[in-house]
Amino acid sequence: MAGPRKLGEFEIIRRFFAPLAAQEPGAFALGDDAAVLSVPPDRRLVVTTDAVVRGLHFLAPDPPDSVAVKLLGVNLSDLASMGAEPMAYTLTAALPEDLDEGWLRGFADGLDGMQREYGLSLVGGDTVGTPGPLSFSLCAFGLVKPEAELRRSGAREGDRIYVSGTVGDAALGLRVLRGQLGMLTGAERQWLVDRYRRPRPRLALGGRLHGLAHAAIDVSDGIVADLAHICEMSGVGARLRADCMPLSAAARRALDKGAVSLADLLVGGDDYELLFTISPDKAAVLAELSDELACPLAEIGEIVALRKGEGSRHPVLVVDEEERVLDVGGGGFRHF
Ligand code: ADP
Ligand code: MG
Repeated sequence: MAGPRKLGEFEIIRRFFAPLAAQEPGAFALGDDAAVLSVPPDRRLVVTTDAVVRGLHFLAPDPPDSVAVKLLGVNLSDLASMGAEPMAYTLTAALPEDLDEGWLRGFADGLDGMQREYGLSLVGGDTVGTPGPLSFSLCAFGLVKPEAELRRSGAREGDRIYVSGTVGDAALGLRVLRGQLGMLTGAERQWLVDRYRRPRPRLALGGRLHGLAHAAIDVSDGIVADLAHICEMSGVGARLRADCMPLSAAARRALDKGAVSLADLLVGGDDYELLFTISPDKAAVLAELSDELACPLAEIGEIVALRKGEGSRHPVLVVDEEERVLDVGGGGFRHF
């Protein structure tokens, strides 16, 4: 099969990328120098970007459509955590000489599926050759009403902390790809790998949290690290209840078999769930929203005041099932 660089830049754009821009008139079928997009007067533009490099963020055997799903998915998760609705994205592709056309076809199909599911369009980008590894940079644009914008900075003492979905699955999926967790069934292992490779950005939830959430973030670095980001931006501390963590059946089994610890799940990244805080008197409204969206939400702790002189300590305390306090400073768990 011919390498895509033998196809030439314009043929690659025409064949693989232009069809993804067909729904957005302002993309001019990728035939002009830039796209022209409308922002309604009552909306603000939300912009985020992420890059992936083969060998670092994805591996050669990864299915190409899953590389696309993850790249677009992590950007859409950022939009979700800001309360925004997806509109468009640009894509910069750096293609090595030996990349085959079939790979690019799979990648474009992955983008196509995500566009249809989440309602956005490719509107431009750049295509270059590289002597280095295959890599992509994607920039996503979203729209949000000013009053619906979610930030990391609004958490208040007494707020309850919630997370959507389940915690730690993606980290276990990565372990499966490394040949671990052989005690789980094939179906469980596949499900965990999918959680790692194919995040499902919580856009419907993010779009409904205005007036409810005081602070929000998406879980990319692990629940403890991302909660710490909320704490730092809000000037507060947090108490997380390890026994309240929502776990998938597969994660529960891995835990029960002693293959992983709860700490592994709390510091594992890549889940792309939403983590947010609300006032306790909004719990009933949130429960209704959870039902309406069929989106599981679990209360996992509360926001507390930062104690004096604690500036250098980790702002997140984790309490285990025996009410012992675990400290997550210095990158690992240790008992007080
Ligand atoms: P210029 O040289 O003016 O930057 P290019 O030749 O790089 O234009 O690109 C031509 C058109 O194709 C532009 O509209 C650009 O946005 C689009 N394009 C190029 N590469 C990609 C890509 N990987 N994905 C989407 N659109 C692309
Ligand atoms: Mg260019």
